[in-house]
Amino acid sequence: METRHLLLAFVLLTHTLTTGMWWTAGTWMGLSSRAARYWLIASLGNGVGLCLTLIPGSGPTVLRVLTACSLAALGAIWLRQGLQVFLKLPRAETRQLVLSMTLMVFNILVCVPLDWQAAGVAISMGVVATTMSWSVRESFHPLSQEFNRGTAWAAALMFGAVALSAVVTGVSQMTPHWPWPWLQSHLETRQFVLTFVSVTLSILTSFVLGYIVVMRLVGRLEHLSLHDGLTGLLNRRAVEALLDREAQRLERFNQPFSILLIDIDHFKRVNDRLGHAAGDQVLIEVARRLQVEAREVDHVARYGGEEFCVLLPHTEHEGALQAAERLRESVCERPITWGNATVPVTISMGLVCANDPQESLQSLLRRADAALYQAKDGGRNMVVSAATKDDAATQDVQQA
Ligand code: GH3
Ligand code: MG
Ligand code: MG
Repeated sequence: METRHLLLAFVLLTHTLTTGMWWTAGTWMGLSSRAARYWLIASLGNGVGLCLTLIPGSGPTVLRVLTACSLAALGAIWLRQGLQVFLKLPRAETRQLVLSMTLMVFNILVCVPLDWQAAGVAISMGVVATTMSWSVRESFHPLSQEFNRGTAWAAALMFGAVALSAVVTGVSQMTPHWPWPWLQSHLETRQFVLTFVSVTLSILTSFVLGYIVVMRLVGRLEHLSLHDGLTGLLNRRAVEALLDREAQRLERFNQPFSILLIDIDHFKRVNDRLGHAAGDQVLIEVARRLQVEAREVDHVARYGGEEFCVLLPHTEHEGALQAAERLRESVCERPITWGNATVPVTISMGLVCANDPQESLQSLLRRADAALYQAKDGGRNMVVSAATKDDAATQDVQQA
């Protein structure tokens, strides 16, 4: 078997796999479908182009080589378009279309009849290099914002490597008298190097793009698992994890923190009077007001139906009481509107300050809950500080 046949099998296998991967991701799994469609076409185009260079007798060499180069340039343009769709970047579709059409016309209608293979290759590689450099420039910041700098660098290095290999290929075509090692070598070795580098870059690029698609999915799932769907606040699981961490800090560094348990007063009446949708709107607005009023370092969570929990790290009782009053006032200072109706809303709060490393989280939350009940019993729309641990224990004994 000739080396060319092995290379052909290698290209067919790898590009069928990458194309299949984008088809599965975009069509079956519905992952970033529009971007996946662009990347599928790019992968298919590259694969077909590489196969053309390896199949002898499929037309004049100059036509095969320039069709392959045009497909490589179109591949870079499609890859960039997919990236723009994926990152919701402003798109210059018309400019890209004009560029690809001009390139195709120039290559097929000018370079092929005139046998300008080197010029056609160099110009196509120029398009690949500039397209990939633009991709690096426009995607670095959004990628590091959404994921991290490591991911942005990995993508930049990958796209940069494609641009660099295109520059080297283009320049070497225009300067055949220079001692480029692969131009000196045997045709088979040259073909092997070119195909191997192209396929490796294509696989690695698909791998980086696949990685960011999966990372976006993981990020969304993580967000869903830690946030409340209605209000967008942290959910109970998330705040419990944060409470655990604060409890560990208290134990290790003796750093106190406070917890506010909040319950909307007579919330059932809103549902009964105006319907469930109005109740939902009240929950959303209360959540927003709490979030706006809380400090950046505080964590506001939806704890249950119409109950919220605010974790105030590094905050002792005095500071927590002031914060709690501020939050209470921000919720009740003006009614919430629902259509033509206005809904006055008040909240009751139980406050507990954690400053004893020996006390468990369960005990703290029990004390905050008891304080919340006292606020309800006391007439609602108020903040009640929890009894001290010892007083709470005495009350428990008396109740028993
Ligand atoms: P209190 O002042 O004693 O807290 O009275 P309340 O009416 O606020 O308390 P109660 O526990 O009697 O009622 C809470 C209601 O909250 C009952 C439940 O249907 C409603 N609720 C819980 N989750 C949601 C939700 O996601 N949306 C809506 N609209 N209502 C909810
Ligand atoms: Mg309740
Ligand atoms: Mg309530």
